[in-house]
Amino acid sequence: MLYQNYIRVLYIDLFTKKIKFENREDLCEYIGGSGVASKIFSELADYGSEPLAPSQPIVFAIGPMSTIFPICTKAVCSFFSPQTGEYGESHAGGRLAMAIRLANIDAIVITGRAQSPVYITIKPDDIIFHDAEPLWRLGVSESGQYMRSMAGAPGNRSIIRIGPAGANCVPTAGINVDTYRHFGRLGAGAVFGSKNLKGLVICGEKDFAIKNPAEYNKLYSEIYDKATKTGLMAKYHELGTPKNVLPLNKINALPSYNLKQSNYEYAANISGEAFAEEVLHRKVSCSGCPIGCIHIGWLRKLFDAGYEYESCGVSYDHELVFSLGSQLGIKNTTGVLNLINETEEMGLDAISCGVILGYMSEALEKGDITLSETIVEVKFGEIDNYLKAINYIANPPNDFYRDIGRGLYNFTARKGGDSYQYALQLGGLEISGYFTGPAHLIGGLTGIRHSHLDNAGYSIDQKLLKDASTLSAKTVAEKIIEEEVIRSVYTSLVICLFAREVYDLETVCRALKVIEINASPDSLKSVSSKILKNKLEIRKKMGFCIDNFPLASRYFETPSPYGLIKKEFTDEIITHYKKLIEQ
Ligand code: SF4
Repeated sequence: MLYQNYIRVLYIDLFTKKIKFENREDLCEYIGGSGVASKIFSELADYGSEPLAPSQPIVFAIGPMSTIFPICTKAVCSFFSPQTGEYGESHAGGRLAMAIRLANIDAIVITGRAQSPVYITIKPDDIIFHDAEPLWRLGVSESGQYMRSMAGAPGNRSIIRIGPAGANCVPTAGINVDTYRHFGRLGAGAVFGSKNLKGLVICGEKDFAIKNPAEYNKLYSEIYDKATKTGLMAKYHELGTPKNVLPLNKINALPSYNLKQSNYEYAANISGEAFAEEVLHRKVSCSGCPIGCIHIGWLRKLFDAGYEYESCGVSYDHELVFSLGSQLGIKNTTGVLNLINETEEMGLDAISCGVILGYMSEALEKGDITLSETIVEVKFGEIDNYLKAINYIANPPNDFYRDIGRGLYNFTARKGGDSYQYALQLGGLEISGYFTGPAHLIGGLTGIRHSHLDNAGYSIDQKLLKDASTLSAKTVAEKIIEEEVIRSVYTSLVICLFAREVYDLETVCRALKVIEINASPDSLKSVSSKILKNKLEIRKKMGFCIDNFPLASRYFETPSPYGLIKKEFTDEIITHYKKLIEQ
């Protein structure tokens, strides 16, 4: 959509190895990113078949501002989630959006199943299939090294790949993007695995002229300065998102020990401040972003028994400090980095993996599961056994690990009884690291991806808490929907959500005008509502129904910043949500 009135889509059929490009004018009204990916997905999804059937598409899309303006860095991936059995969408930064843009592509659609493992190199004028048999079950870092060495000179390229969890089609497997970023949630890695697709190397070699350089440079500098000089994004560069750990802990919003507590006695040991002091090695950025919010910790570990030590960089953020830290009773930064590193290497979604381990720890304590199933004694605070269990989730040695790797909703539904009452999932996806109140719960349950980033329920809770007298179920439902519509604008333009205050809608429209796209804040919101409606229809066709996901009693037993959350109140929000969404 760069100075053109079409979206350039690359279609790849893995079975026949047929390649096709289409320039689609009809997709322009869906903006890009989430809008375009979900629209293409809705056209090609095989609604009557399993999520991992070869016919199912996996779609990647960038937006019209990608790489042209600062912090427009994300790529969107749409697929049929093998974890929730409904629409799956995941977003990742890194170098991918830049590489797709400079390969002169707006969207990539992959269907079919390769006859044996492959990875694919995509260049502006060439698509190459490579044999991936030798690296099929290798860990993420080794696979990345191999693909990098085979790809030759660095250039503007991005390398995405799966680890053993994806190769084994574990429904909580993600896709690693350029080592430190991920399409983590909802099982995109299993979709790659089911297609015998190890990964993609995308090489951007094109150059694009900017038509209005004077205007462009002026606006670019203005946005750049707003991002770097005003303090709007300072926290992301300074301590990064782990800056949230201590404030959340202070207000009883940091889930710990499988949410038996919302306050963690060792929070200071694994806070953003502690990571910065003890292990922070460097900060890196997605391509085209001046912020550098990706914090890399240095992990020194024994190579193997009887060998020496090796060191590696491991990226950490708030979500992982929660899922593989407070959720598991881990008391130090090195312990958290160790668990993150293993999860990354196996190619699992680190949030789901940590939440699953916390559930297993409590279930084993209670006697709801047995040691003969878990093989190792998963126990809060015990790092070594967690490391082994992570490996088992990625490479299931028995039915128990095969089931638990499908996520807690699937596991507890199969197990039956009351086991779901302490399983921390919302809408079939394991929770993120905020226990801020009712908006976070219902936001996760109703959000299109069940991600905390869909509608920022955690932020709605904290804003409403400032004047709890204004809190009503209707207000919460309205705010959740309102925010999801606004965020859909950003995820379709694929601006990093951390930069949403830099890019108010007026600024977005000015930026679009420079690249000759006319839009107003109202027109963007109206397109966004249409995009959201399309996604709601997709998931309805896939059988999603809020009532199938009762909230675990654990959410009502542990104090939040609002005290104990009342179930009647969350029921009331759901009633209002249903009414509003049907309007
Ligand atoms: S703020 Fe962070 S996640 Fe967002 S684009 Fe910049 S480096 Fe990437």
